[in-house]
Order: sequence, then C-alpha cells, then structure tokens
Amino acid sequence: MTLTREDFIALDDQDVLAPFADEFHIPDGLIYFDGNSLGMMPKAAMARAKEVIEQEWGTDLIKSWNKAGWFNLVEKLGDKMATLIGANKGEVIYADSTGLNVYKLVAAALEIRPERKVIVMEGSNFPTDNYMVQGLIKQLGRGHEIRFAEDGEILDAITDDVAVVCITHVHYKTGHLHDMKKITAKTQEVGALSVWDLCHSAGALAVDLNGSNVDFAVGCTYKYLNGGPGSQSFMFVAKRNQGKAVQPLTGWWGHAAPFGFERDYRPREDIRQFSTGTEPVVSLAMSEVGLDIFLRADMNEIRKKSLKLCDLFIQLIEERLGGYGFDIVTPKEHDRRGSQVSFSSENGFAIMQALIAADVVGDFRAPDIMRFGFTPLYVSYVNVWDAVDRLKNIMDQGSWDKPEFKTQGSVT
Ligand SMILES: *Cc1c(COP(=O)(O)O)cnc(C)c1O
Repeated sequence: MTLTREDFIALDDQDVLAPFADEFHIPDGLIYFDGNSLGMMPKAAMARAKEVIEQEWGTDLIKSWNKAGWFNLVEKLGDKMATLIGANKGEVIYADSTGLNVYKLVAAALEIRPERKVIVMEGSNFPTDNYMVQGLIKQLGRGHEIRFAEDGEILDAITDDVAVVCITHVHYKTGHLHDMKKITAKTQEVGALSVWDLCHSAGALAVDLNGSNVDFAVGCTYKYLNGGPGSQSFMFVAKRNQGKAVQPLTGWWGHAAPFGFERDYRPREDIRQFSTGTEPVVSLAMSEVGLDIFLRADMNEIRKKSLKLCDLFIQLIEERLGGYGFDIVTPKEHDRRGSQVSFSSENGFAIMQALIAADVVGDFRAPDIMRFGFTPLYVSYVNVWDAVDRLKNIMDQGSWDKPEFKTQGSVT
C-alpha cells in the first residue's frame, strides 16, 4: 500500500514521545536529521546557563566549587549517565574530549596486559580514535601495533596475542551496529580487554555495558545526548579495573588527595583517577540539561520510534526516488543498525547542499555518503514525509546541479 502524508500525521498523533519535542528549541520550518552530529538545544539550557553564569560564577565565584557542587559534577553526571548505558554508580565520569579519553582508556588497558602488543581497531572508524591510538603507540615506544579489521572481520582478528580491542559500537558513516556482547566475549576469551566507543549509541539505543561485561567505554555527549557544542565526553571503567589500570595523564584531579598538594602523583583508586584537571563548568552544566531530558524518556520507546522513523525513511526513498541512484549502505536488519540512515550517491555532496538549502539538514561524509540521523525526542514522523518530499522536488527538477551547491566549507 502506498503511504501518504496523512499516515505520518496519524503516527505522530499516537506517538508517546511527541511531547518531548516541546522541550527543544526547533527553528521554524527546520527538519533536522543531524542530531547525531550536534544535538538540538534544550529550551531549559538558556535558563540554566544564565544561572550558572550570573549566580554561580558572577556572584558566588570560588564558593561555587563547593556550594554549587562544581568539583563533583563530573561524578554526579557520570552516575546519571550510568543509568543510560547499563553501568553502576561510581563507574562513569565526565572529562575532556572523546579522543583524549580513548588515549587514556587504551593506555590503561594496555597496562593490564603489558606483555601483549596488538590492538584491534576498525580501520574505517571515525578517524580520531585510530589517530589517538597511533599517537599513544608512538609515545609508548614499546612496539605496539594496530591490527585493523572491518565489519565482519573483527572476531577473526581477535587472537591470543591481542591486548586490547577498541571498537565503535555504531559506525559513524554507515550506521552499522556491532554485537557488543559477542565481540566482548571473544575479546575476553583470548585474555584481552575491551574498550567500546559509544559516540553513536549512547542516547540512540539501549546500551548494556555490564550486561556485556565490558571493561572500558567512552562516548560523546554533544550528539544524541544534546549536551551542547563541545560538551565533555564520558568514560566508563568497570569496577574490577579501577585501582588496577592507571591512566597516564596524571593530573591533580585524579590524585588521591588533590587538595593535599603533595609533590608526587598518587593515583586515586576509583573512577576519579580518569579525570585529569579542571573542567569547563558551564559546558558541564549544559550537558546535564540534555541528560536530564533523556532520563525522563523510556529508552525502549526511543529505540522503537528510531527504528520506525528509519524504516519509513528508507521505504519512502525507495518508493518515491527509486530511479535516482540512492544506494542504501546502512544495514536494514534492526539488530545491525544504530539510529541513522546513509545512502551513497554520486552527486551526494551537491544534493545534500540543495537539501540543506530547503531546510532539511543532514550531512555528507566523503567520498559519497549522504547521512541522516534520527533523534526520536524531537524528530516527528511527518518530518520524514516532508523531507523526502523536498528531496523528490530537488531531484525531479535537477535543482541540485548548480555551482552554489558544489563549494565545500571547512566543516561538512
Ligand atoms: C564524534 C566522534 C568522536 C569525537 O571526538 P572528539 O575528540 O570529541 O572531537 C570520536 N570518535 C567517534 C567514533 C565519534 O563518532
């Protein structure tokens, strides 16, 4: 049966997550399928920013480290995040950027397996993870190497000379989802440690770190979790590895007694050792606003809606834009994908620019991927219909084929 716009309106009417859209600032007429790159701004962010800046900083100044709980915010937010990713209290902390945390976690994991030299990673992963581990290997100077494997090759790459397996749960470009439980089980079977990157899965689907017996994990908060541009990353360290795996960026925030001001470093034996130094408090406060919205939503409903939005988007593209050379690269099986849909298209860059000019925001990833992220808290079903409708217009009229859509900015 052919779908109509009315079918999508009916789905919105029955959508239990629909009220959450009111909690976000959605610019007029904008259809935003890029919350996997930068999440939308929660309306409550403005009032909270005003409070942190005017009251906590402006008036209370240094007192706020205690009075407003600034010093413990990294753990408080970690404990909140823990409930979203299947971790326990005391196993998650906010700090720094994802790349820096990949460095810290892989270094800590390597300390537990000093005799082994191989780190398994996905070569096509978002490159900063690989770059950071390459930098770490150079810094260590002990002959470590990365064994790159692609989707489908990873289990075979995990042999008994492997120290660490560091894989991103959902692939940033294709959206394929790895089997965390299976890969972690194989990792531990050969005596290696697992480091999972949750940048495209935390807030996108239910993650169960302890249920999969994961050793370490890291993730982003400015994508699905709506923490604001450049908001801090988070780290998970399983209780059993705390006090055992010491991360190498040994700043005072990870010292056993930060206000003892001792000469020499003495590591804390808990999650706080993974912290390095003073964090941007205003940004942390914004992260909390985004996170608090998630804690009120049901992750199973989020996943259900996400899959449905993606299924409908794929179906409409295939039905209405069949002849235009959009080839789906995201796996169609539900247990094999995250919350995005990617198509390859020869003129993908220009088509995406034309679509953005028509107020449908997705993004482009070289060489030919058009990427659409679906964030169920503020994306509606009718958004999906309208987006495909605008794309169909662009294709029918060939209006993407203009010089103005072919110049590339520094961020795609
Ligand atoms: C978005 C993303 C990052 C971001 O890294 P930063 O250091 O925070 O800039 C890292 N890794 C993956 C897999 C990502 O998707």
